[in-house]
Parts: sequence; structure tokens; C-alpha cells
Amino acid sequence: GEDLALLDGGELVDGESAHETALPVLAVVGRPNVGKSTLVNRIIGRREAVVEDKPGVTRDRVTYPAEWAGRRFSLVDTGGWEVDVAGIDARVAEQAEIAISLADAVIFVVDATVGATDTDERVVRLLRRSGKPVVLCANKVDGPRVEADAAELWNLGLGEPYPVSALHGRGTGDLLDAALDALPTVSAHGTVRPDGPRRVALIGRPNVGKSSLLNKVLGAERVVVDEVAGTTRDPVDELVELRGKPWVFVDTAGIRRRVHQTSGADFYASLRTQAAVEKAEVAVVLVDASTKMTEQDTRVISQVIEAGRALVVAYNKWDLMDEDRRPFLEREIEQDLVQVQWAPRVNVSAKTGWHTDRLVPALERALDSWDMRIPTGRLNAFLGELVAAHPHPLRGGKQPRILFATQASTRPPRFVIFATGFLEAGYRRYIERRLRETFGFEGTPIQVSVRVRE
Ligand code: GDP
Ligand code: GDP
Repeated sequence: GEDLALLDGGELVDGESAHETALPVLAVVGRPNVGKSTLVNRIIGRREAVVEDKPGVTRDRVTYPAEWAGRRFSLVDTGGWEVDVAGIDARVAEQAEIAISLADAVIFVVDATVGATDTDERVVRLLRRSGKPVVLCANKVDGPRVEADAAELWNLGLGEPYPVSALHGRGTGDLLDAALDALPTVSAHGTVRPDGPRRVALIGRPNVGKSSLLNKVLGAERVVVDEVAGTTRDPVDELVELRGKPWVFVDTAGIRRRVHQTSGADFYASLRTQAAVEKAEVAVVLVDASTKMTEQDTRVISQVIEAGRALVVAYNKWDLMDEDRRPFLEREIEQDLVQVQWAPRVNVSAKTGWHTDRLVPALERALDSWDMRIPTGRLNAFLGELVAAHPHPLRGGKQPRILFATQASTRPPRFVIFATGFLEAGYRRYIERRLRETFGFEGTPIQVSVRVRE
């Protein structure tokens, strides 16, 4: 009765990636040691310990759920991102660029006791170029004596500097109120308009042909549709019409401008990939067909699945394949992709343009699955048949009964099964497999979670 009404609210799912998409994103950026982590910890109520083990910790996620004054948003914490001391300027700018591209609004932290440095000025230029709302945090204003220093930061041209002591909490309330005022209620990245552009991330390790494919795709049908009404767009995104519909290729700046290969480049490449994936609805993972698949390729695919985005795998450089190698390659590929058999695969050549016209239809199929909702009645009829034909194994004389299931959300599809006991992992996988066999879901990860009811 009452419980079931709750189920349609979509609030019952574990994890938060689907929700995060639509939540507005606030990024905290600034030089090392200005107090970003201290501020972030204050916002998300994280303990000091996390700051302690910060150096060298490569975080596996870039956004964190946060709440202030009853409003939920995602926070991009760049405090834990590596910065090597050599070339620190470039690193700070690179971090800031990634964080800004993810964000709907930015808190820019400056150490008021030091004043604005050249590196700060560089970040200011990036912020201006992005056109995103910025709230300036003049940090380390622990007492009234330093307030004059804070006022000097008016010179940065970013408006009012908010004097803050992240350490003691002074002024953080006003700062956050201002940041939330600047933040839209829903993320530009998560906004879904019925005929709005769909968002694609083109990703893969260096030299697989991302830039070539992007040029091919954009060059073929280049209709720059900046005029699409009401579309918010980052300068780093590319808007194009393909097969009669607008598409946004996100974070193309990183693809076009080859990011210099220095130490830590892997880390930033992975961060960029993650940022692009978070902004996208569907990702094309490009793989070089002329070389063996590497761990890095697999990692990129995992990033897409973990973020809950739709997935298309494109094997590029197919022109380099000998006719007689192709059958072997097909078998090899099937083995490599055994974990993502559900993803559409296209073999293409970005160089010659061969089969690149198959990319967009594959993206459309993956997105359709990502958006798909199975009516509750159908889902339960399916589960009833499944359980009748293949009941959960008996363990220690007990057998959990499945009571009811519902699809709690789409994008990606998430299912919640209510049962009288815990369902074994093997059985959950079996349910997932049967769900795919029955309903398709080509190109989207799906999630099945279980709620135990007495
Ligand atoms: P991040 O590298 O920008 O993330 O900076 P951290 O948050 O790690 O802070 C760097 C140092 O500045 C730490 O020793 C903090 O305790 C200190 N710090 C941060 N905020 C304040 C502040 O408001 N006042 C003072 N006096 N020190 C602060
Ligand atoms: P990115 O680093 O992933 O952006 O890769 P690029 O697009 O810069 O391509 C890396 C290299 O592979 C360049 O020399 C391209 O000309 C080449 N390349 C890209 N696509 C193809 C393809 O389909 N066939 C062949 N033979 N070479 C390609």
C-alpha cells in the first residue's frame, strides 16, 4: 500500500551518480595551500583525516554530494588532485580548467595573506573565458586585521571578495550563500530538454584517433548550431547537427589541443576523461584496432560504466587491418569486450571515413536504452516467470522470496528488488542477464539492487 507509492519517487536507489547528473555542480579551485581542502571539508563535513592523507592520493572520483542551507549540489574538490612542484603554474591552470569545465559555478580561493599571484591571475583569465559565475573567496582572514588584505582582491576584477577563514569557519556562511545564489537550480549538464542536444564524450587513450574522428564527424555535417534556442554550452564543447538532430561533443578542447606529456600526465588524462564522462550522457570509447587492447582501454570503459553512462565502443584504424586478419581480430575483440557485450560496437576508420556514419545510429540505440523504462507490471510479470523457472538456490534451508520489483530510475536503468532475504551475487547476475535478454538495454549499464524486507 503506502510503501509502494513511495517507489515511484525514484528516491530509493543506492549510489548517487544518476542524481548527480542533474544536481548543479560547484567547483572549488585555486593554488595549492590556499585552503581549498579546508573549505571543502567544512562544506561537506568531512573530517581532517582526509586532508592528512592528501598528498599523492589519486582520488577515483571528481565530484562529491554536498548540501548547504537545504540545497543539494555536487562539489568538485580539486584539493586532492596531484600537483607536482615543477611546472606548478601549468598544473594549477590545467586543474582549474578541468574543474571549471565540469562546473556550473566556481568558488575561486585566494590566500588573502599572500595576495594575488601570477598563477592566480592565470586562473582568473580561465575563469573569465569560461563565462561561468565566480565567487571570490579571500581565505585566511582569521581576524579583522587581515580584512584590508581581502579588500585588495577587488583588483582581480571578479567582484566582491568574501573574507573567509576556512580554518575557523568565519565568513563561510556568507560565501556559500553567494555561491548558491550563483548556482543554477539544475546543472546545465543534466538539463534534459525533449529536443535538446544529446551529450557525447569521445574518449580513449592517446593516439587512438579521437581528434581524427572528431574532425571527420564534425567536418562531414558541420552545422554549427549555436542558435539552438536556450542551449547552454561550454566553449570547450562542440555543437553539431547529425542526422537531423543536435549533438554536443563535450570537452573537445582537451582533444584538439594536445595536452603536453609530462609526469603525472596519466593522472590528468584520467581526470579529463572522467570530467568528460560526467558531463556526457553517452560515451564513445575509441580503441585502436591495429594494436592490442591495453589495460588503459579497459580502465576507460570502466569509468563509463561506473559513471552510469551509455556506452558505444568504436574500433578505429580498421583500414590498417589485413583482410585475412579480420576474422581473428573479431574473435579477439569479443574476448576483450566480454564484460561489455551489451555495448554496440562499430568498426571505423577515422582516416578514410569508412563506416563513421554508423556511429550516430549506435549512439541513438545506446541512448534509447539508457532512457528506457519498463512498466512495473511488465517487470513483475517477467520476474514471476523467472523465479518460477529458476528459483533462488536453497542455502542453509532458507530461500529468499522475491516480493516485488520496480525500476527506480532511468539514465541508467536502475532496478530495486524487494525480497525476504539477501539475493546471492550469482542470482543477481542471472536476473541482470535475463533482463537484458528480455528487454534489450543495448548500450547501457543497468543496476540491480536488493532491499531486504521482513
Ligand atoms: P589546499 O592545498 O588549497 O587544499 O589547502 P589546504 O586546505 O590543505 O590548506 C593549506 C594550509 O592552510 C593548511 O595548513 C591549513 O590549515 C591552512 N589554512 C586553510 N585555511 C586557513 C585559514 O582560513 N586560516 C589559516 N590561518 N590557515 C588556513
Ligand atoms: P588522439 O590522440 O586520440 O586524438 O589521436 P589522433 O586523432 O591524433 O590520431 C593519432 C594518429 O593516428 C594520427 O597520426 C592519425 O593520423 C592516426 N589515425 C587516426 N585515425 C586513424 C585511422 O582510422 N586509420 C589510420 N591508419 N590512422 C589513423
